[in-house]
Amino acid sequence: MRTKQFKAESKKLLDMMINSIYTHKEIFLRELISNASDAMDKLYYRSLSDGITGLSRNDMQIRIDVNKDERTLTITDNGCGMTQQELEQNLGTIAKSGSLDFKTNNEQKEDVDLIGQFGVGFYSAFMVSDCVTVESRAYDSDEAWKWVSKGAEGYTIEPCEKEDHGTVITLHIKPDTENEDYSVYLESYTISTIVKKYSDYIRYPICMDVETRKLKEGSEDEYETVVETKTLNSMVPIWKKNKNEVTDEEYKSFYREKFFDYEDPAKVIHSKVEGSVTYSALLYIPSHAPFDYYSKEYEKGLQLYSSGVMIMDKCADLLPVYFSFVRGLVDSEDLSLNISREMLQHDMQLKVIAKSLEKKIRTELKKLMTDDREKYEKFFSAFGTQLKYGVYENYGQNKEAVQDLLIFVSSFEKKPVSLSEYVSRMPESQTDIYYACGETVDKIDMLPQTELLKEKGYEILYMTENVDEFALKMMDEYEGKKFKNICAESLDLSTDEEKEKLKEKNESAKSLLEIMKEGIGDSVHSVRFTNKLKNHPVCLTTEGDVSVEMEKVLNSLPNNGGDIHAKICLEINADHPIADKLTALAQSDPETLKQYAKILYAQARLIEGMSIENPTEISNLVCSVMAK
Ligand code: ADP
Repeated sequence: MRTKQFKAESKKLLDMMINSIYTHKEIFLRELISNASDAMDKLYYRSLSDGITGLSRNDMQIRIDVNKDERTLTITDNGCGMTQQELEQNLGTIAKSGSLDFKTNNEQKEDVDLIGQFGVGFYSAFMVSDCVTVESRAYDSDEAWKWVSKGAEGYTIEPCEKEDHGTVITLHIKPDTENEDYSVYLESYTISTIVKKYSDYIRYPICMDVETRKLKEGSEDEYETVVETKTLNSMVPIWKKNKNEVTDEEYKSFYREKFFDYEDPAKVIHSKVEGSVTYSALLYIPSHAPFDYYSKEYEKGLQLYSSGVMIMDKCADLLPVYFSFVRGLVDSEDLSLNISREMLQHDMQLKVIAKSLEKKIRTELKKLMTDDREKYEKFFSAFGTQLKYGVYENYGQNKEAVQDLLIFVSSFEKKPVSLSEYVSRMPESQTDIYYACGETVDKIDMLPQTELLKEKGYEILYMTENVDEFALKMMDEYEGKKFKNICAESLDLSTDEEKEKLKEKNESAKSLLEIMKEGIGDSVHSVRFTNKLKNHPVCLTTEGDVSVEMEKVLNSLPNNGGDIHAKICLEINADHPIADKLTALAQSDPETLKQYAKILYAQARLIEGMSIENPTEISNLVCSVMAK
């Protein structure tokens, strides 16, 4: 019998399969099963269009058999089968498959990627077998043909006997090597695990005879081994069902099992979309962050299915970074099973799906925020940081998509509020959105600067996370209202008249303020009187773009050198009794005034939650002033 040569391209792919170092060789089974399933689909549709009677979908099934002695694994289907010509064409050439359009240079890494993400169809059988036999009989034909190949050198085709239509593929499993245990593919346990993992939702039963040990009938302690035919797959994917057919508990247990979470999700999003693209999506918002979430190890992405067959475990392109916490899957008929990763990245359909998912997730999160605030707050404490980074990253490119999902604790009830809630209850006289930064809500709440705003009935948002102020700076404004740090030197809520009065006071106290500045040294940029304060004597404010909090964050970053400084001003309450004392000292005792300045500055730093540079000196100063 003449051995025929594979077409050049096919040979390349075959070589790649045979020599594959790919570690998930198990996907060969997924490929063969989905081919079998396709073959049954084809026959079924043909039966519908040709009006063939007596063919029922219920009779169609895929069988898997193993023979350990012969080292064979057999996959049998009763689908459309192939004629001699089809065998030649389909298995001898890769005509239409897109997967070879990628560069078949011999770079192993690319090969590995490609096999892993998409599989390469029938030839993947050669990853685990040294000889593949395909016996097939096309529906409506009375002859059957046998195709045999040991790999790269070619294949043979000869007539054979086969009673029914369909295809039988027999893999002769490679002998084990030092690095690879091929015999696992002869274990029914492994097979059923692989089927569950990749092909659970194939809509035809995948059956296998499985040996189980059972108590002998009538006996209490004697066992016997019986062979039972088991269906390995569950057949109906939960996401293909209608919402009203799936219980809450089913959604949750599916999530826990599939995504290995011990906690129920905060939200389940099940959507079916028909239109320019058709897809079903089952998404979950976890209620807590996985342990590696904020690390480099965490990989975002959704599982991607093409008509019930998983083609990718983590398709990153389906989720924007700010929603990287979302778990779940997408199933679309519009995606080809053999699409390559490069093609997928440029796939318009995938882009459309990603866009519509993004919108859906956003809407659902907003809904959760209004409908179940407690749950939303829990969600936000797990993933709020991610959302804030989402505002910040790419120079604020996505800020509009994310800003409405943010919540911050506010001064009103010490509860988290959204920006739109904040704006909606701003008094008419208020033009800006006020915020303050600090280590904890309680500490911020005690800042002297908050007092006057509270008195005016203005709400303040409390920022306690490093990223907060950076995100706000990136947003700059919300619904036309600017974000204003209440600790900024420029913030002044007084009337024009009051401002004028203060200006005069500062000008006439020029030498006093200079002495104080000299006393403190370079750590302050300026010293001045203020009318921002009510009962408190002093506070710190900053001039320019860098706030005290930002200075802390920036200087804590690696490779920074610690040379970013906020321009700090010491502000003194003009109406506080201490102001008069300072004025008096300026005249009578400038040296003591310098000591006072140092003490006041140290106090202001402590109030801000900053440390003092020279605690011993300050302590001694306080004592010497007390002793006077
Ligand atoms: P793909 O499935 O992407 O087309 P494959 O290399 O897996 O690529 O298969 C090539 C072709 O061989 C299929 O398109 C199909 O026509 C045919 N084929 C493979 N397996 C079977 C089968 N079990 N029954 C009928 N036809 C099959």
